[in-house]
Amino acid sequence: MAKVLTRIFATPSKYVQGLGAINELGKHVKDLGKRAFVMGGPTALSLTEESMRKSLKESGVEVVGVDRTVKECTHEAINRLSKESKDKGAEVIIGAGGGKAVDTAKAVAWRAGELPVVMVPTQCATNADASALSVVYTEKHEFVEYLVYPKHPELVLVDTNIVGRCPAKFLVRGMGDALACKFEAEACRASSSPSFLGGLSTDAGLALTQLCFENLMKFGLLAKRSMEMGAVTPAVEKIIESIKLLSGVGWEVTGLAAAHAIHNGLTILPGLHAEHGEIVAFGTIAQLVLESKTLEEINPIVDWCVKVGLPTTLAELGLSDVKKEDLLKAAEKACDPNDTMGNMPFPVTPEMVRDAIIVADRIGKERKGK
Ligand SMILES: [Zn+2]
Repeated sequence: MAKVLTRIFATPSKYVQGLGAINELGKHVKDLGKRAFVMGGPTALSLTEESMRKSLKESGVEVVGVDRTVKECTHEAINRLSKESKDKGAEVIIGAGGGKAVDTAKAVAWRAGELPVVMVPTQCATNADASALSVVYTEKHEFVEYLVYPKHPELVLVDTNIVGRCPAKFLVRGMGDALACKFEAEACRASSSPSFLGGLSTDAGLALTQLCFENLMKFGLLAKRSMEMGAVTPAVEKIIESIKLLSGVGWEVTGLAAAHAIHNGLTILPGLHAEHGEIVAFGTIAQLVLESKTLEEINPIVDWCVKVGLPTTLAELGLSDVKKEDLLKAAEKACDPNDTMGNMPFPVTPEMVRDAIIVADRIGKERKGK
């Protein structure tokens, strides 16, 4: 592989977060385009459409179309919506919802003539908003491909009155995904592996992932407790920023490694019953084992996972009866040369991954039982 020598850092042009931020949408969109096409799922738009319309109207931005049917980021949806937004003369695309809606909006904006795109997330289980890529699936949620764009969204607008008041389980999943970014960033740095931007990570990128991890450890549990009470406290604001901005930008500018590769490997096992962030959190513990971190380093992180309600055992992932030979198959998948295991700073074999998973599970059981 050719050596990469340059460091790259890139982000969305503007990030806005706070209680009632959606009421400022028009103010930020008006400089991007005067004709907006809005898309999202029915739930997301029932939460946001009225406020978005009001704010856009106040700033002189016309809504030329609304599609409330986005369920999955498929090529069919991208083709249909990019044609429709072109036909309606859209100048800016707004995607409201979870990862699927914002990924669809990014793809539509690009296809409809490299239009500016605005992300209005409605929950925090994903950190897809800030990145310059979409993950395309089939209607049955089978992975198809990554679409990578040369530019980032112009605006990520996070109204914590909406995102901070969704069920706390979404926050927990988002934290699980965000937990990995510091460790994967450090692995990519140690191996001089390029990030998704095609360059090495900068110290700025690494600092984002470090702060993300510190915030999770300090404020994660308090944020979850707050959201369970329907309260948007400073801890909730900190954790939403950690998921949406620190990890959202951080992972893209530093790179992925074992934690996500192990996630991808585990997804082939029948019985697996967990969300992306939950599986990534478990994969993070397995990566720490793989890196021969000490129990003094691993235990506090496992204890934090137990406290916030992230799975730390195979049983909690729906894999209580998984056989060793099936774990080896998952480990082989995790070591697929097209995946990110190769970003680890030492050679990794499927047997090493299987054993790290078994030990991560054992540590999780011990810490849960203590
Ligand atoms: Zn992830």
